[in-house]
Amino acid sequence: MVFSIRELGAGLLDLLLPPVCAGCLCETDGEALCRACDVRSELALPDEPPPEPLASWTAAVPHDDVARDWIARFKYPKRGLLGLDPAADAVASYWIRRAALAVPGEAPDAVVPIPLHAKRLRERGFNQATSLARDVARTVGSPCRPVALERIRATATQTELGRAERRRNMAGAFAARGAVAVPARIWLVDDVATTGATLASAARVLRRAGTKEVRAVTLAWRPWIG
Ligand SMILES: [Zn+2]
Repeated sequence: MVFSIRELGAGLLDLLLPPVCAGCLCETDGEALCRACDVRSELALPDEPPPEPLASWTAAVPHDDVARDWIARFKYPKRGLLGLDPAADAVASYWIRRAALAVPGEAPDAVVPIPLHAKRLRERGFNQATSLARDVARTVGSPCRPVALERIRATATQTELGRAERRRNMAGAFAARGAVAVPARIWLVDDVATTGATLASAARVLRRAGTKEVRAVTLAWRPWIG
């Protein structure tokens, strides 16, 4: 298993720093945010049904200004040691674990992150979805399988695209990988879901490869505003 410098550094800092709230630095009982800073005690359950063929989708928080800042820090760390951001890592981990516990149904046979394209992975140095998937896997006691899916096509950024365009943009973006049997029940993990086009595209590939049920878990859900 390969850990990035960033993950190792965050692990070390966890040992050195006492449990304080990442938002206001007050002491906490070990959670990443105190009750006052973690205003979203309710899960951000998406208010529309999951896109086919997802069986369910669960998000920890709505994608508001606060969540956007934390997720940007988690997702786009500065280069090198400046990129060590244990507070952002802790908040992301805390939220994704909470979402994992709220997913309906039994624990999955495997937890699979949405992969980055190889080129993007080289530029970025790590896939944030993989560290989220590891947290989910640990939380529910299932194996994490980061290589079950491969991104075979570099896709345009979705930000400017409409709902149907997003679906087209993600079509054929993924392939199932490996000669081993595809697990029957898989949870897909990503940072933010909007229309669910990315998750649905990955889920279709897994279903075609033999997976019976695919559920999605994300940090945040951003309601689609046409
Ligand atoms: Zn606080």
